[in-house]
Amino acid sequence: GSTIGIVGGGQLGRMLALAAARFGYRIAVLDPDSGCPASQVANTTVVGPYDDEACLKRLASLSDVVTYEFENVAVAPLRRALGETPLSPPAEALEVSQDRVVEKAFLNGIGVATADWRAIDAVEELGHALLELGGDCILKTRRFGYDGKGQARINAQTTFTDAFEAIGSAPAILEKKVPFSFEMSVVAARGRGGEIAAFDPAENVHTLGILKTSTVPGKVTQELAASAMHVAAKILTHLNYVGVIGVEFFVGRDGALLVNEIAPRVHNSGHWTEAACLVSQFEQHIRAVAGLPLASPERHFDCVMENLIGDDVGRFSGLVTEPRSLLHLYGKAETRRGRKMGHVTRITPRSSGV
Ligand code: ATP
Ligand code: MG
Ligand code: MG
Repeated sequence: GSTIGIVGGGQLGRMLALAAARFGYRIAVLDPDSGCPASQVANTTVVGPYDDEACLKRLASLSDVVTYEFENVAVAPLRRALGETPLSPPAEALEVSQDRVVEKAFLNGIGVATADWRAIDAVEELGHALLELGGDCILKTRRFGYDGKGQARINAQTTFTDAFEAIGSAPAILEKKVPFSFEMSVVAARGRGGEIAAFDPAENVHTLGILKTSTVPGKVTQELAASAMHVAAKILTHLNYVGVIGVEFFVGRDGALLVNEIAPRVHNSGHWTEAACLVSQFEQHIRAVAGLPLASPERHFDCVMENLIGDDVGRFSGLVTEPRSLLHLYGKAETRRGRKMGHVTRITPRSSGV
C-alpha cells in the first residue's frame, strides 16, 4: 500500500490519519513529539525528534506523497528534502499563505477583495500607514500568527512602540479593521484533474481570537454561498491547487465579501463535515492528495460545531450523553488554557435553502 506523509501530527494530522486508515493507506507524520495526537492512530509512524531538513528527508523517503497540517513549514528546506516526492497542496500555496503581505498581494492581484492593508517594516512607518488607512486598524505579524496570536488593535491613540513590541516586532502588516456583520468560511477541495468540490459555507464565531463555533448554514444566504464558493474556486485554480483549502471571509453590513485569510490545509471551520456530510474534509483531502476522485460534498444536516477549548473538555460526561451530537477528542494528555482539545457537532434536520 501507499504511504502518505504529513508534516505535523497535531489534531489535524490525526484526523487525516484516521481518514487515510479507512482507505488502507499508511501514514508517516513528522512531529517533534513522539506522543503527538496523530501517533495514536493505527498504521501511523512518527518521524522525529526534530522538524529539521534531515527529518523531512526521512519523511519524504517513507512517503509516496507529502502533505501538511499547518502552513508554517519552511519552504526551501522542504523543497530540498522532498526531491522527486510530490507535495500537495503545492509549495506555492505555502509561500502565499505563510506571509500575510504575500497573501494579500496575491489575493488582490487575482481580483479578490481584502481589508485595506499596508506592509510595515519598521515602527516609524506606522503613523503614516494609519493615516492612509484611517480609523481603527489591526497590526499583525506577517508570519507565524494563529488563533489571533501576534495581533494588536491600533488607532491614533495607541503608543506605536508598545503595539509593535506587543506583537513581537517586524515585519508586520497593518490591516484596516473591518466592521463586519459576521464571519464565514468555505472549505473546498481541488483534485489532481482540476475538479473542484466545495462544502457549504459556515458562519464562524470567534472568542478571544479563537474559533468557537461554526454554524451551517447560519447567516449564510444562498447568494453569499455562491459568491464565496466562486472566490474559493478562483483561488484554487490560480494556485494550481491539489487538496483541501480553508478560505475565511468577512461579510460586511452591506453584504460585501472580503477574504480575511486562506489556510492551505484542512480547516477547523470544516470539522462539522464529519457529522453532516457524506464525506469529511479529511477524507476529501486524502482523496485529493492520493490522486483519487473527489467525493460529493453534499450535506445531510444543518449543524453547529463547537470547539472544546481548555477546560471545556471536562464537560465530556454531559456531551457524550447528547443523542444528536458527534463528539471528537484529540487525545491530548495535557489540558491547557486556550488549547484545542476536541470538538462537538450538533445536528438538526436540514432546512430548505442553502
Ligand atoms: P487562525 O487561527 O484562523 O489562523 P489568525 O491568528 O491567523 O487565526 P486572523 O484570522 O487574521 O488570525 O484573525 C483572527 C480573528 O480576528 C478573525 O477571525 C476576526 O474575528 C478578527 N480579525 C482579524 N483581522 C481583522 C480585521 N482586519 N478586521 C476585523 N476583525 C479582524
Ligand atoms: Mg491564520
Ligand atoms: Mg483566521
